[in-house]
Amino acid sequence: MHRSLWLAILLVGTASALAQDQDLSKVEIKSTQLAPNLYVLQGAGGNVTASVGSDGTLLVDDEFAPLVDKIRATLMGLGVTNRPVRYVINTHYHYDHTGGNLPFTKGGTTLIAQQQLRARLASGGTAGNGGSISREMQAVEPQALPQVTFDHELTVYLNGEEVHAVHYPNAHTDGDSIVFFPKGHVVAMGDIFVRYGFPFIDLNGGGSVQGMIDACEAVLKQLPGDAHVIPGHGDPAGVADLRTYLKMLQDTSAAVAQALRAGKTLAQMKQQHLLGAWSAQYSPPKAFVDTDAFTDTLYNSLSAHAARHGRPGR
Ligand SMILES: [Zn+2]
Repeated sequence: MHRSLWLAILLVGTASALAQDQDLSKVEIKSTQLAPNLYVLQGAGGNVTASVGSDGTLLVDDEFAPLVDKIRATLMGLGVTNRPVRYVINTHYHYDHTGGNLPFTKGGTTLIAQQQLRARLASGGTAGNGGSISREMQAVEPQALPQVTFDHELTVYLNGEEVHAVHYPNAHTDGDSIVFFPKGHVVAMGDIFVRYGFPFIDLNGGGSVQGMIDACEAVLKQLPGDAHVIPGHGDPAGVADLRTYLKMLQDTSAAVAQALRAGKTLAQMKQQHLLGAWSAQYSPPKAFVDTDAFTDTLYNSLSAHAARHGRPGR
């Protein structure tokens, strides 16, 4: 493929977190093999992690409906199996990770998710950080709702792998799952881990920065050193990348918590560039979540925590 076309696709890919005006007809799906039966597919919207083998295919997340035929064609093009997609596990309810649910389920796929995710897909609502960022999430058709739900954990036995979907409460939303492929040393993080810069945390949808931190800490405790860590957006990463990201979450939220205890207002925190040290790395030009928006997020998340517990979170 021509280099400039790849560049265009890369740009579409990185800017696509909850993107609203994208020409999906031009998107191409790129696949990368991570382990004998495991691949990551990147098009627009959230990354898709795929277990592909003689038992059939399981996907983690499914991008947007107009891309489903391209996802299917990419899977067939791997030359591993010509069986249809049997399962999709949704990591969270946002439409850039669940938009393909309806065409997949019409083709016979079983949709699996944490039960709170199903409730949010059914009701719709406004995702947001409690201020500067908000996105309307429309209620989906009943057919696009998961047929199988779980509370804490669910295992699918497929292609010689025990695929574990585990609920991490109040992280990016209140219905997040992280999906582990222990044999392949792969974990699909959903939007609890992203690589586009400061993360979007859907506080309106039950997310919290403390839940993001807790989830990343719990995952790091159980990953082998050579694990492939698949972010919700951006290229496949490793354990060291997740550690760096976790440290940013811990340090930025500690800075905001300390400023809250010192009685600073949100306006003062922004004016004094409280998170300035992280801007160069995590707030690129035209960032989805720029430094001010992330300051809003942490302020709103930690003051809500303080209101509940009498003190800002750590
Ligand atoms: Zn999301």
